[in-house]
Amino acid sequence: MVRTVPVAIDPHLIAPCGMNCALCLAYQRPKNRCLGCRGDDKDRPLSCQRCIIKNCETIKNAPSHLCHECEKMPCRRLKQLDARYRAKYGMSMLENLKEIKEQGMDAFLAHQMEKYTCPKCKGLICIHRSRCLSCDP
Ligand code: SF4
Ligand code: SF4
Ligand SMILES: [Zn+2]
Repeated sequence: MVRTVPVAIDPHLIAPCGMNCALCLAYQRPKNRCLGCRGDDKDRPLSCQRCIIKNCETIKNAPSHLCHECEKMPCRRLKQLDARYRAKYGMSMLENLKEIKEQGMDAFLAHQMEKYTCPKCKGLICIHRSRCLSCDP
């Protein structure tokens, strides 16, 4: 798989739930790529288009469009998603949101780069496969 090496992660790739779409298999694959939660619906899988979090009215009205501004956080849906990702992929949306809230988006993105950059090719590791798909497709 040929991928360009990112020098930084675009903040638009951080979904309202705290997911870093740059690490998603659907974003990293060369065919039928999803361009991220904030991309066009036509490019996103149906499951993501229908996502309750993405379509939540509170999110739509929040200046940052991130769940950390919500009084109800974590709502049931976000808790479920977080529990699934913690168990399956060793990643937490809630921790991501907490870090963004406490340290700001720039610091969070720099930390994500540090945490998920492949030491060999400097591309980003895929969270759904726990490996770099360029070095180990
Ligand atoms: S499939 Fe969902 S999580 Fe993956 S890049 Fe698209 S919007 Fe983000
Ligand atoms: S945490 Fe708040 S903003 Fe996020 S999906 Fe739940 S209710 Fe909506
Ligand atoms: Zn690599």
